[in-house]
Amino acid sequence: MSQEVLKVLYRLQHTGHLGYLCGGGVRDLLLGREIDDYDVATDAEPKRLKEVFGNCRLVGRRFRIAHIMFKGGKIIEVSTFRKQGEEESSEEDDSNSLLIRRDNTFGSPEDDAFRRDFTINALYYNVADFSIIDYVGGREDLQSRLIRAIGDPDIRFQEDPIRILRGIRLAATLDFKVEEATWEAMKRQRHRILECAVSRIREEVMKILRRESCHSGFDLLVRAGILEVVFPKLEEFRLAHIESNTTGEGPISHHLAVLEDLRAQGAKLSDSVLLATLTAAPVRELLKTLPSDHDVGKSLHEYLETNFKPLAFPRIVRSKVHLLHLALRYMLAQQRRKRRRSLRRSPIFADALRLLEIHCLATNQHWSALRRWQSPPVNGPRRRRKAKGRHQ
Ligand code: ATP
Ligand code: MG
Repeated sequence: MSQEVLKVLYRLQHTGHLGYLCGGGVRDLLLGREIDDYDVATDAEPKRLKEVFGNCRLVGRRFRIAHIMFKGGKIIEVSTFRKQGEEESSEEDDSNSLLIRRDNTFGSPEDDAFRRDFTINALYYNVADFSIIDYVGGREDLQSRLIRAIGDPDIRFQEDPIRILRGIRLAATLDFKVEEATWEAMKRQRHRILECAVSRIREEVMKILRRESCHSGFDLLVRAGILEVVFPKLEEFRLAHIESNTTGEGPISHHLAVLEDLRAQGAKLSDSVLLATLTAAPVRELLKTLPSDHDVGKSLHEYLETNFKPLAFPRIVRSKVHLLHLALRYMLAQQRRKRRRSLRRSPIFADALRLLEIHCLATNQHWSALRRWQSPPVNGPRRRRKAKGRHQ
């Protein structure tokens, strides 16, 4: 465990408080995985945390969380044990909605465990006696490699449908199975994902794509019927291109499988490359079927906007994905050397080359184009400029 988190836990203990490591930190610690971020839960209320820690900043409007800041920019997040929020009814609310809009009442450690999403995310580690505290059967599920919602999964997903995407990400990342009732509820409640703020949906989808396990994450999104909800156009293309002789794989998943391999080799991939890879197969098909006199840029723009605008991907990312697709099209065609140089000098060249590599690996085609673009530019003999006045 990091020195910083230990300092926080011991300081809480020495000032008379409970201080537990919680959430993903405990789960990953028990699985022997590298820990991305540490979360601490305590019975100390935010204003008390300000007194206990000099290096503390309170953040969050609805629920105050303490950020304990350390040298080098490391931050440990400390939150006070809280209860499951009650739903707030308002005039325009649909009376069936269980969506939680308030989540800010303090509670006991047990309340805090029951408001969490999955059993394996609700374990606590107490440094005072080195024990694991488990109110929800999380240890057993960790051992059986199961993602199980805490309580009634239908209700929990209705309260916060983003949990469905979190569950998919967790199952893919850890290579765990989703427990039967949780899985069925994910499928039943999947359309509610659109009730969440688009920024949350977009971030969760990107987290799935950014992981090494993005291929299995995609597969789970498909099997749970969620691709249809978050990217309906992609689902339409996928359904039309399923390879009936295999396990239902198709061109989109072939592209994502390549991402997994590249990641395993340590490749860093930008979000634009990820989104261009996700749309590479349908875009290639779209461009192939366009009549020759058609405005390629416009059709491409329209196709990408139908995919990425509903989740409000930033304009800069959408434009870059657009450019990457144009660059891929250009690289796959035979090009004159002079024009080749200008693409090489462009800021998107590294990402465009990566996309070309992914596309070649996914389709097992276009290798000569890849070799041509990967090899350093040949500065062939420049034509001598015609002497001025030669033809005069
Ligand atoms: P990782 O950080 O590896 O992505 P994590 O499980 O730590 O995974 P965080 O987003 O850091 O995820 O959340 C910390 C903890 O807060 C979770 O483990 C879970 O217990 C709880 N949590 C997060 N989001 C929700 C949610 N939407 N509903 C209920 N509990 C949640
Ligand atoms: Mg975390």
